[in-house]
Amino acid sequence: MAYAPRIDSEGPNDRPRNSAGMTAAMATARESSHPHLRDGVRLPRDRNISPTLLHHYATCPYRVRLQYIDQVPQPRRYNHHLSQGRIAHDLLRHAALCIPRNQPLPAPDQLFAMANRRVPWKEFPSPETRLGYVEQIVRWVNYGVAHLDRDAEYLVIERFRSRPFAGGDPREPVTLLFRPDLVLLRGDIDGEFIEVIDYKTGTPRPDPDVPVIARFILRPLLAELSPEPSAVRVRFTYLWLEHQATDEYDLDVDFCHQHWPRITGTIERLFAETEWQPNPSFRCNYCPYHGNACTPPPPASLPLTAATDDSAATP
Ligand code: SF4
Repeated sequence: MAYAPRIDSEGPNDRPRNSAGMTAAMATARESSHPHLRDGVRLPRDRNISPTLLHHYATCPYRVRLQYIDQVPQPRRYNHHLSQGRIAHDLLRHAALCIPRNQPLPAPDQLFAMANRRVPWKEFPSPETRLGYVEQIVRWVNYGVAHLDRDAEYLVIERFRSRPFAGGDPREPVTLLFRPDLVLLRGDIDGEFIEVIDYKTGTPRPDPDVPVIARFILRPLLAELSPEPSAVRVRFTYLWLEHQATDEYDLDVDFCHQHWPRITGTIERLFAETEWQPNPSFRCNYCPYHGNACTPPPPASLPLTAATDDSAATP
């Protein structure tokens, strides 16, 4: 008898899948390794939303679940990149504060001494390796200091700013939060403008959403400067310290309107989220839950890439 293929049979690729593309068996396996995922919990609306949280949500919803909802403690693990980023930010803050105080900017040898005091000894295999890290921080900071404008007015130096956002559910506005590294009032041939500076230590990956969120949050500040805050010129500058490069965004109204719907859509999805899917990727290597609270760890076959800017680099 001739072989007759069963065209109505259900192969593995024909099985019904949920919105995440998982079959029932895959979803059951995932839930048994991530038992929290069954309860459909949502992010409370009183949770402040920062660009960092939105970035984490875009890269792995499950990380948001662990960090911001379950508040699973992050195990202490020394991370050279994050530690260097924090020290560089501290030194740049110190340098920026010198200008409104009419103090001289710290000299390179002072910066070296300050960085050297902060970098721990016990995390490095040799003094030479440690020295290389200290010198790298000083290089970053020198690049940032070179961009400090002595003629500018320093309006904000590393301070959180927030603003309610009534989108999605106007009865329950949420709060957007951002900590600019610097907000300056500067001048050029076209007049005064605001510059927001964000120091970054990782690979240049300019993201237009952060500048647009920053402009939204800074609007009350703009309203103090002008009766027409929408007309105030605002420039957002990413300063890539390692790569000694800048990316600038002129945040005019058209630019902000172009990107705002995507940002608000993400915020609405975040508050409607109940599934909190893990999304294993190379970024797991920089996730504090990798290999502990998030189980099982992603397959070893996933590609590993160079360090990405994931925390000190994201506000
Ligand atoms: S380890 Fe990876 S999959 Fe797990 S929470 Fe972190 S980023 Fe997500």
